[in-house]
Amino acid sequence: MNQGRPFVYADARLKCDGVDVAELAEQFGTPLYVYSANQIAERAGLFQTAFAGVSHTVCYAVKANSSLAILKMLAAQGCGFDIVSGGELARVLAAGGRDVASRVVFSGVGKTAAEMDEALDAEILQFNVESEPELELLAARAAAKGKRARIALRVNPDVSAETHPYISTGLSAHKFGIGIKLARAVYTRAAAMPSIETTGVSVHIGSQIRQVEPFAEALAKTLALVAELRSDGHQIRYVDAGGGLGIEYADKDFDAAEQVAHYAAALKSALGSMDVHLLLEPGRFLVGQAGALITRVLYRKQNGDKKFVIVDAGMNDLIRPALYQAHHEIVPVVTREGSLDEEADIVGPVCESGDFFARARTLPVSEDGDLLAVLDAGAYGLSLSSNYNTRLRPAEVLVESTGARLVRRRETYEELFAPEMP
Ligand SMILES: *Cc1c(COP(=O)(O)O)cnc(C)c1O
Repeated sequence: MNQGRPFVYADARLKCDGVDVAELAEQFGTPLYVYSANQIAERAGLFQTAFAGVSHTVCYAVKANSSLAILKMLAAQGCGFDIVSGGELARVLAAGGRDVASRVVFSGVGKTAAEMDEALDAEILQFNVESEPELELLAARAAAKGKRARIALRVNPDVSAETHPYISTGLSAHKFGIGIKLARAVYTRAAAMPSIETTGVSVHIGSQIRQVEPFAEALAKTLALVAELRSDGHQIRYVDAGGGLGIEYADKDFDAAEQVAHYAAALKSALGSMDVHLLLEPGRFLVGQAGALITRVLYRKQNGDKKFVIVDAGMNDLIRPALYQAHHEIVPVVTREGSLDEEADIVGPVCESGDFFARARTLPVSEDGDLLAVLDAGAYGLSLSSNYNTRLRPAEVLVESTGARLVRRRETYEELFAPEMP
């Protein structure tokens, strides 16, 4: 089983599941996202297997990578989905059909009335409600439709997880969830609303968390609340443990199977013999290492002592380094025998000093026209991309067992301008 990255060299050329990456770049142009379908399926399978002994649904967090082709694949594999907008609901229904709605949970602190209506019409599994005003609005929208909305309150367990401050969410200082100490009273209020059914409790403490202990701590606190809620008469069936399991961006020996097993063991031990249906919301872990952003070297330049390698992908295509100071390994797509290493900044063409993929990185000396692969770019890559600088976003290729397939063609200028009325 392939546990690390699906991108490996054969005869000095980078391959994705055996498909030649340089040939994909020739065929589809750059910048180009390339994903391994096999790895995504495998990662989802690891989750499903690790929790096999527990009643559970893996609800893939759509925001990590919302490609319809990937959603379709995961829906076929039995996954549910964690969505955070009406747009993501539309994507999930387009990719998986209306039946997947019964495996959809809706998270997010700012759901609009229109989004609630769409999700009520689709009859999703559960709304993860993050505040009392949201609960009131949802109750009103459901009542107007003569429906009952199944809800979990997203509780904020006040558990600290070591990750980047922008992607940590489980402390009371963050905007997410309802303080766990206040939750019981809110459930009592919710249960008195005829259009609301209190069916679950949810928790999500952040993203890119490598230690499993904070997940177990948050789940244990959540389960203590579930016991109280059940004693108050709420029929709590679903416990949503959230997502956030991290990957190793710098370590190529990362053992994904071991990491999931570790995570599952910690969660199962917190769960004990409690009878609940567990919802899991992995995003990054399923798709992050399956993808790479392929980019071409445009120019090399030197300012004073500093060397720059200017590539044709920019922060609008992959914003993680600029936004989170994130580390991505960068490797040549074709290696040259005997090439020397140099230290350089790998930067994009966007008019921002924050437009870099790596700073002071030691890489084999590249030449104009060479291809580089920015690895582990499958999560929060295209889904966080923009058209800043009126740049066309990258195309996307999915490598499947039957070969490589374009799953998103490159945009055109006409498409970018279409909504404008000069
Ligand atoms: C972002 C998010 C996830 C997924 O996080 P990953 O780090 O990609 O696993 C899951 N649940 C919620 C509520 C989220 O906001």
